[in-house]
Amino acid sequence: MEYNKKDANIISEAWNESNQHMNCPKCGNDMIISQINPISGSDDDYISFDTIIECGFCSFKLRSESFKILGGVKDFDLKKISIGSWSNSGSRTSSNYEHVLDYNMLKQLKESGELVEFLIVNNHVVEIIE
Ligand SMILES: [Zn+2]
Repeated sequence: MEYNKKDANIISEAWNESNQHMNCPKCGNDMIISQINPISGSDDDYISFDTIIECGFCSFKLRSESFKILGGVKDFDLKKISIGSWSNSGSRTSSNYEHVLDYNMLKQLKESGELVEFLIVNNHVVEIIE
């Protein structure tokens, strides 16, 4: 199964339809995200992983790329989030993504300044790993 542009579009559509979960475009059930192999040769600050996104109910399956960032919530609104973190060289940096996270949870994280791991798939923050 190869990663392609069409799959990426299906993924963003699945996200846009729901506020908190990524739902299967076929049957509407929750999707399960699994990181498999690190993708080498990337100059980015974060290691990307080959990622399978599959429905927990039907046979729908996609391949994408994902990575994790350790950082704090700098700013956010209903659609976008700014994550404050550190680059490889140790300097402070911030990155902006679209997200599908819960508004109140983000509010709490911003107020507490707590550092958490954000899982980013196809440039969308989809999960917080505490
Ligand atoms: Zn499904």
